[in-house]
Amino acid sequence: QVVTRFAPSPTGFLHIGGARTALFNWLYARGRDGKFLLRIEDTDRERSTPEATAAILQGMAWLGLDHDGDVISQFDGAERHAEVAHQLLTEGKAYKCFATQDEIAAFREEARAAGKSTLYRSPWRDADPATHPDAPFVIRIKAPQEGATVIRDQVQGDVTIRNDQLDDMVLLRSDGTPVYMLAVVVDDHDMGVTHVIRGDDHLNNAARQMTIYEAMGWDVPVWAHIPLIHGPDGKKLSKRHGALGAQEYQGMGYPAAGMRNYLARLGWSHGDNEFFTDDQAKDWFDFDGIGKSPARFDTKKLENLSGQHIAASDDAALLQELVEFRVAKDLPTLNEAKTVLLRDAMYCLKERAKTFPELLEKAQFVMVDRPLDYDQKASKNLDSVSRGILKELTPQLQNASWSRDGLEAVTSSFAEAKDIKFGKMAGPLRAALAGRAVTPSVFDMMLVLGRDETIARLEDAVR
Ligand code: GLU
Repeated sequence: QVVTRFAPSPTGFLHIGGARTALFNWLYARGRDGKFLLRIEDTDRERSTPEATAAILQGMAWLGLDHDGDVISQFDGAERHAEVAHQLLTEGKAYKCFATQDEIAAFREEARAAGKSTLYRSPWRDADPATHPDAPFVIRIKAPQEGATVIRDQVQGDVTIRNDQLDDMVLLRSDGTPVYMLAVVVDDHDMGVTHVIRGDDHLNNAARQMTIYEAMGWDVPVWAHIPLIHGPDGKKLSKRHGALGAQEYQGMGYPAAGMRNYLARLGWSHGDNEFFTDDQAKDWFDFDGIGKSPARFDTKKLENLSGQHIAASDDAALLQELVEFRVAKDLPTLNEAKTVLLRDAMYCLKERAKTFPELLEKAQFVMVDRPLDYDQKASKNLDSVSRGILKELTPQLQNASWSRDGLEAVTSSFAEAKDIKFGKMAGPLRAALAGRAVTPSVFDMMLVLGRDETIARLEDAVR
């Protein structure tokens, strides 16, 4: 069974790169009946905060990236990590190193002066334990010094690291605490992780982690190191260009499905498909489709996909998301009647709205109550000529059959009889029905509002 994991360090919010890593792991597992686990890498006690963990969990919840089992804390496993270091010591695959910081610095100094590699080579590697002093020590792994370590990466291909470039990394510090690199390997092994999908800034770690797997005789997971995300200018992602937290995108009103679609396309592709559903993404996601060069953040594309997902959403589900968005934004709660109107209007609101705020903007005509406030443009559209037109049109609408066809028939025969273009009537109608100039179509508004409310608004406008 496939087991993936997302292993964020809780030192800040869930940023776009992290969200994408989580999504890739989620897609890979969910498309294969696998498990997707969540491990919080909180071993750095100074920099890890509960607020950051909460923000990461919140971001994942918003994105719908549900994980299997409990949230695992890496720090909780410290004893187990130390136990592995001691096991390697017992088996002669690791050793106690008593070198002091000064000695290591002196070693490097000398190597530099002699023009040799400054990679630290501890004299304790092959020392007879009988000669060990009664002094503080670290536990180092006996890394291979000859040959090469090959990382068989699903994205980067085979990456070969010469073993003479690997030092005997510290596994356990002199205070008995395990190092991060050991914790990652032990946790991934113990959690049964089969596939490690993460940013390629961890590629170098993979070589060192492999020496631990090999020393323990454990199966090495499948690696997939994905290129980082760059800004639209090809440079490092800046705050302006997507280095924001998932929460900020939620705040900007992108639907989670659109965000998932966009994040999936950030470094992964499947033919020419831009818009796809979760089920399609789960079916299609594979390492073949991951690009080898950094993906570029593209706000236009995010907006575009977001708009397509809004348009494709089921009305009731969209209403639910909108209500949640309003709650998150501290917007006033909608009463029952408004909620019903909003749902009825959804069919015409969801077209061409790229975000929830845009959709709500179009929904203004259902949010407002009589008597309406007219904005500047609307007031202009309600000049005396226009009001004259509305005054005559209103009684005819009153008697119209309340359907799109019925309303269209009445307005077009009215326009014909008066020899005016429909365009001349649309502006005043929008103003009267919504109090503003940019709205859904006038017929959609009339249908949603119903006969009584429509007529009342028209009468208000000419009063
Ligand atoms: N905790 C690491 C990070 O936040 C990820 C380590 C891993 O995936 O192996 O970048």
